[in-house]
Amino acid sequence: MNTNQFKIKLEEEKALLEQELGRLGIKDPETGNWNPNPSENTEIESDPIDMGDRDEDFTISSSKIEELEFRYNDVLSALQKIENGSYGFCEVSGEEIEEDRLLANPAARTCKAHMN
Ligand SMILES: [Zn+2]
Repeated sequence: MNTNQFKIKLEEEKALLEQELGRLGIKDPETGNWNPNPSENTEIESDPIDMGDRDEDFTISSSKIEELEFRYNDVLSALQKIENGSYGFCEVSGEEIEEDRLLANPAARTCKAHMN
């Protein structure tokens, strides 16, 4: 499998996620986890879809950060697999992940049969 195209997409997504996480949260240097940035979180955002451009009263719940962090970890894991040559195999069955699934989601950990 040509992993180069996936690597490029993953690197791009990693950079975007780092940017987004850096804006919304503060990385704990000891645990490596991201915590909500207090100045950005004076109240809980009730509708996470409503990601408006109101900077002042615009707040993010920590669940948004968790979601980004989850995705970020998937991306990191996929990049690591590319490095060690195990990229593109289902974590459940060990079979090759369908290429169209990887094209839709380069950080996919499982094949279509084992999507959760
Ligand atoms: Zn599978």
